Amino acid sequence: QRKRFIGGNWKSNNTLAKSLELVDSVVNKLEFDNLDVVVSPVSLHIVPVQQAIKNNVQVALQNIGHKGYGAFTGELSFEHVKDLKINWVILGHSERRRTPEISESEEFIANKATLAINNGLSVIFCIGETIQEMEAKETQAVLEKQLNPLIAQVKDWSKVVIAYEPVWAIGTGKTATPEYAEEIHANIRKLLPDQSIRILYGGSVTKDNAAVLIGQPNIDGFLVGGASLKEDFIHIVNACK
Ligand code: 13P
Repeated sequence: QRKRFIGGNWKSNNTLAKSLELVDSVVNKLEFDNLDVVVSPVSLHIVPVQQAIKNNVQVALQNIGHKGYGAFTGELSFEHVKDLKINWVILGHSERRRTPEISESEEFIANKATLAINNGLSVIFCIGETIQEMEAKETQAVLEKQLNPLIAQVKDWSKVVIAYEPVWAIGTGKTATPEYAEEIHANIRKLLPDQSIRILYGGSVTKDNAAVLIGQPNIDGFLVGGASLKEDFIHIVNACK
């Protein structure tokens, strides 16, 4: 039995006051024990958010640098993250893979993930296909291309959670059907070296579709965007208890 995992990806939103209000009105209202719940504010807010959290919710960084301490202006290293007792990092989000001005490559993302894992951090590793790739029946090939460089390098899979986020479902209201998500998750699981690795679904998860999605045998939780910025997140977490 895999422990369910619910992540709230706040993306590049919120003033600090708003992030702290969200901690008060949503995060600190969550009550759970047999789950992992992680929220990910913009990195500038992560310390005050972490200090404001009063329960067992953890925090995640939304990205991390490709090296340790050093002459890398603008980067955050795994050492900075560990120093502040932050355990989780999101990597490979489609908004970093697919935004043309950012365009992080498969190799670069997998290398950053491996560096983070080898240095004791845990990684939420995001993968997913675009609508064009889905229509061209390339989903499986795309997911393998994104996962393979990670599979080639990582040894400690207890520190990895995979988030399957079809790009066409992110922020569009077009949630994958439970059947489609289940089929893809089952295919992803076949690629992974360990059956205990959790595979999350992300893409227009709401309080109304969370229960049916989490009912699928290969869906172990969610990475939630828009709905994690409001009270709906409480209902989504409750649906996973
Ligand atoms: P939405 O839940 O807003 O579709 O975003 C999903 C996502 O990108 C989480 O990382």
